[in-house]
Amino acid sequence: LYPMRLQRFLARAGVASRRGSERLMTAGRVRVNGVVVSELGSKVDPAHDVVTVDGVECRIATGPTCLMLYKPVGYLTTMSDPYGRPTVADLVPVADHPGLYPVGRLDMDTTGLLLFTTDGDLGQALLHPSRHVTKHYVALVSGTPDERDLDRLRAGVMLEDGPAAPARAELLSPRDPLFSVVAPHGAGRTGGGEKNAVVGLTIHEGRKHQVKKMMQAVGHKVLRLHRDAFGPLALSGIVEGAWRELSENETRALE
Ligand code: URA
Repeated sequence: LYPMRLQRFLARAGVASRRGSERLMTAGRVRVNGVVVSELGSKVDPAHDVVTVDGVECRIATGPTCLMLYKPVGYLTTMSDPYGRPTVADLVPVADHPGLYPVGRLDMDTTGLLLFTTDGDLGQALLHPSRHVTKHYVALVSGTPDERDLDRLRAGVMLEDGPAAPARAELLSPRDPLFSVVAPHGAGRTGGGEKNAVVGLTIHEGRKHQVKKMMQAVGHKVLRLHRDAFGPLALSGIVEGAWRELSENETRALE
């Protein structure tokens, strides 16, 4: 970790709110390495300093951080953009977690689960093709794929850069809760008046625009794309634009 303001340290340790922590400090109840610290600008190094409140030591988790973001449309998956466009870095707590970066990417117009970690080794491992991390997507597509289209996806459809690995592919019923995530007003119609449909796709590769290219290869344009699962993680417990840290069980399941 890195030096941080003492009141932030106390808040993150769960001692009190940031304000409440400031009051504890000014009341002289907080010590750093045995010395009372009441000045609000003071910093501590969580990895080395011993902080006590009324003589009781408090700590913050110093292990790597993993969190999930519910990515909205309109954000680039990068931690900085030379043109100043909105990026996912605007949505996650980078100041509290130096070294936080996204594992893989979602297109600007794709929504859903984007994993972040400060653990470079974990991030690399999860992206490695040999790991076969499965990702589940739902896509609103033009027209309605028939069984033949779905079978081509299941067999491994040919893309420009070689065949895609076999995928699980199915049409979703309008009653499926995931249907309305990409088709909130129903599936509608495109171009030639053909009714659109919602496809569920499970893949374990991560080529650029992979789902869009796979659907295009069987003749259906992706109109909306959403990822609701990444490996053992399901998008849950947060609204669009929000993030949360993974639970211990979720973190363990990733390793
Ligand atoms: N496949 C795509 O085409 N786009 C994404 O954002 C993710 C997978």
